[in-house]
Amino acid sequence: MASEKSGSLSLEGFTFSESWEKKRKRAKKIVEILTKTHPREKLLIGDPYRTLIHCIISQRMRDEVTYNVWEELFKRYGDIETIATTPVEEMQKFLRKSGVGLWKTKGEWIVKASQIILERYGGKVPDSLDELMKLPGIGRKCANIVLAYGLGRQAIPVDTHVNRISKRLGLAPPRVQPERVEDYLRELIPREKWIYVNHAMVDHGRAICKPVKPKCESCPLRELCPYAKGLVTDEDIKGNSKKGGK
Ligand code: SF4
Repeated sequence: MASEKSGSLSLEGFTFSESWEKKRKRAKKIVEILTKTHPREKLLIGDPYRTLIHCIISQRMRDEVTYNVWEELFKRYGDIETIATTPVEEMQKFLRKSGVGLWKTKGEWIVKASQIILERYGGKVPDSLDELMKLPGIGRKCANIVLAYGLGRQAIPVDTHVNRISKRLGLAPPRVQPERVEDYLRELIPREKWIYVNHAMVDHGRAICKPVKPKCESCPLRELCPYAKGLVTDEDIKGNSKKGGK
């Protein structure tokens, strides 16, 4: 086997044995197949501010509801200047009436993040993960979403689909945190493909590699997937394995 480590990443936590070299080759093929199966010719590379607000609203929300509320919010308030000067209570009321969960917190985040972007960054959404993560309501996943889909940078947002599928595919050890999953994917997948990974895995997760009962028999990744071969299980991913993570 090749060296056990690649940077700060280790092969120790995987449930099966595979060198970095083989993993990289497999990852490359997986991404090729995924982007062919779930093509997105035009990725949503748009306004970073609107992407950021969308991400705040979307937390623990269904996509359709998020989209409608987001659209309505911009119809009603228009731009960052108006949103930044809207009283927090008014924004909270709007979100609550629109059926948004965590409306109180999100209302505050939306107004405060807008004020900070105006005051500290001259109205321009910052172009760095660290700066983005200083904004209220913006964690690592949202920061990566803004970088990828708002600014067109190569970034890999890790949401629940990317986390689960990467682990089933043995591209990240089953027990690591999403932040670490991102590190493994960045290590294994060629940089110019990073921007496609989230979209492709989200589509794949909705259509085939579902949280419960993934459709392995009809999956185009079957031959490349350790989960389909019984080498990784959902119990491993939940951390209930008796194998001790090896
Ligand atoms: S073979 Fe099964 S577990 Fe593997 S990616 Fe496909 S659906 Fe998911």
